[in-house]
Amino acid sequence: MARSRIDFDALRKHTEIPPSAELLLRQPEKETTFNLNLKIDPNRILRADCYVVYWNTVRGPAKGGIRFQPDVTLEETADLAERMVWKTALARIPFGGGKSGIALDPRQISRFEKTAVIKEYVHVLNLDLAHGVYVPAPDMGTDATDMAVIYGELHIPECVTGKPPRVGGLPGRREATGRGVFHASILALREVLRKTPRRATAAVQGFGNVGMHAALFLHEAGVKVVAVSDVTGGRYDPRGLDIPHLAERALKDGSLGNAPGKKIGNDELLALEVDILAPCAKEDQITRDNARDVKARIVVEGANGPTTPEADLILDQRHVPVVPDILANAGGVIASYVEWRQGKSGAITDKAETFEVVENRIGVAFADMLRVAREKKVSFRTACQISAAEELVASMRDRDWI
Ligand code: NAD
Repeated sequence: MARSRIDFDALRKHTEIPPSAELLLRQPEKETTFNLNLKIDPNRILRADCYVVYWNTVRGPAKGGIRFQPDVTLEETADLAERMVWKTALARIPFGGGKSGIALDPRQISRFEKTAVIKEYVHVLNLDLAHGVYVPAPDMGTDATDMAVIYGELHIPECVTGKPPRVGGLPGRREATGRGVFHASILALREVLRKTPRRATAAVQGFGNVGMHAALFLHEAGVKVVAVSDVTGGRYDPRGLDIPHLAERALKDGSLGNAPGKKIGNDELLALEVDILAPCAKEDQITRDNARDVKARIVVEGANGPTTPEADLILDQRHVPVVPDILANAGGVIASYVEWRQGKSGAITDKAETFEVVENRIGVAFADMLRVAREKKVSFRTACQISAAEELVASMRDRDWI
């Protein structure tokens, strides 16, 4: 069984975590490994290892996406499931944490084969999905169509989120994580840096789903976004970039590779003197090697785990606050909650309402983070973990688990 990455010894210094609660949080409730096998023709079986982890479900169904990547592992799936437990507790939404991994390269198989693999996945997990034990969503390598296939197998609108808006999905789900990163940045400017958006600057690493939407919303609010980047490199303009134009180009070309403007490397981007640095690309970007170069006044983590633990310590010593991923990128799972609620009720939700719930939940978590950080004199990351731990322990008591 996987083991937790949370430093419970550090957390126990600041809040009461009974040994029984710690026991339940240190390991997943359930880890399942199975093979998905599909006969393609008499001489060929398409086989994929599949991992499903429910880390903790005390606050509701296990919630988390399906990662469809050739190198996905049980360990990675478990790590992501655990993050979902803390993220959903911090945002006070009625979900637990789960995740799936299907070890296949989606680019090496046809759409027809992918649909068949997803259907087989539903056949194996049928009871859990139909009973709402686990509610999947898209993650790397899966998309809205895959979620529509899951819905089509079960005919239960709330059994899966991230569906296309015409098939029970949610307007604003696509932009929701970026919307949350944006809102966390605006709160950081207002509550921590005491700055208005129009006087602020930002740099955004990663120009995919999360980074592009975060940059677009920041630009729209008047923040001067001076640099953005993707895997091909970045663009920089100290007077502020034309983000809508860059987004249009990146969507058309698939990357920033041919976009106009002055080029900047990813290392340089991370070292820019800006108010907000939003790493929205991937894990392990701010490390012990470059954390001393960070000149941003605050870091807002759009990606999962972009700051390594060693870098976190260095930033803390240098008094660079970090709004952690479990708060800053919770917009996606908050929107999933709205979609799940919509599926259960049959209500119709518009984009404005999706964004309103995302901002409300991020706002509640942000206020709690500030309160705990000030009261206990801890970093924002520790404050978020304390707040989530208190919620999880109280929920376990409510359910007579401890
Ligand atoms: P994506 O694939 O749409 O975009 C990733 C972007 O990062 C791309 O622009 C890519 O070119 C860029 N990138 C990759 N390697 C890079 C590098 N070394 N330097 C600079 N840029 C690089 O992915 P996404 O959905 O935007 O997710 C980004 C991160 O946010 C991941 O860590 C993901 O787990 C996390 N996240 C995503 C969501 C969501 O709803 N999409 C929700 C929560 C967390």
